[in-house]
Amino acid sequence: MDTAGEAVGGAAALAHIAAAVRSCTLCPLASGRTRAVPGEGNLLSDVLLVGEGPGAREDATGRPFVGPAGQLLTELLEAIGWERGDVFITNVVKCRPPANRDPEPAEIGACSVHLDAQERALRPAVVVSLGRHSLQRYLPGARIGAVHGRLRRSYSGQHVFPMYHPAAALHQASLRETLFRDIRGLPAALLAARETLGSEAERSVEAEEAAARANEPDRHGDDTEQMTLF
Ligand code: URA
Repeated sequence: MDTAGEAVGGAAALAHIAAAVRSCTLCPLASGRTRAVPGEGNLLSDVLLVGEGPGAREDATGRPFVGPAGQLLTELLEAIGWERGDVFITNVVKCRPPANRDPEPAEIGACSVHLDAQERALRPAVVVSLGRHSLQRYLPGARIGAVHGRLRRSYSGQHVFPMYHPAAALHQASLRETLFRDIRGLPAALLAARETLGSEAERSVEAEEAAARANEPDRHGDDTEQMTLF
């Protein structure tokens, strides 16, 4: 997101998506929700955090990551000098699965229209996937144990920084240290992603300019053609 006009457009798009999420009935999770949880955060952020799905507190409040896992997420962000308001936070499914069970592939598939639209509106430089369900969206088949804490690229070219889900560290204390170690690599990953995206954008402008030049009528060529007419 780079101009004020785009920011206004992005805000309108995100408000529209949030309204669509709140009235969504695309999958059975809709019938069990108290509130849908579209996501929240800084619309201008280059960093999008994608978790799994709302829990009890999120379902009650309509806000992502406001329970115990959210508390740890806030601490993780603070460890690198960031705040929740510096990033945008959402989930692969926007309604709470019953009894906090894993979201099913069909539910994740149905809900992906909303996350796809959020990504188009936010155009983040880096997506931080939290947990394996989010990881599978960006790096299908990847194992969290093998890829966490390192910047990757999805098949569609998105920069992805996989992390364990903060809730996992609430059950397995050793993962807490891993999460803090991993997040310390996020600022550098963001800089690297921005740099790559910047040079790719430059190269594509150069390629467009070269293509436009190649299509320009060649005055010398025209003259030559004219002369052959006589
Ligand atoms: N866990 C998630 O994956 N998302 C939330 O919003 C809360 C807990």
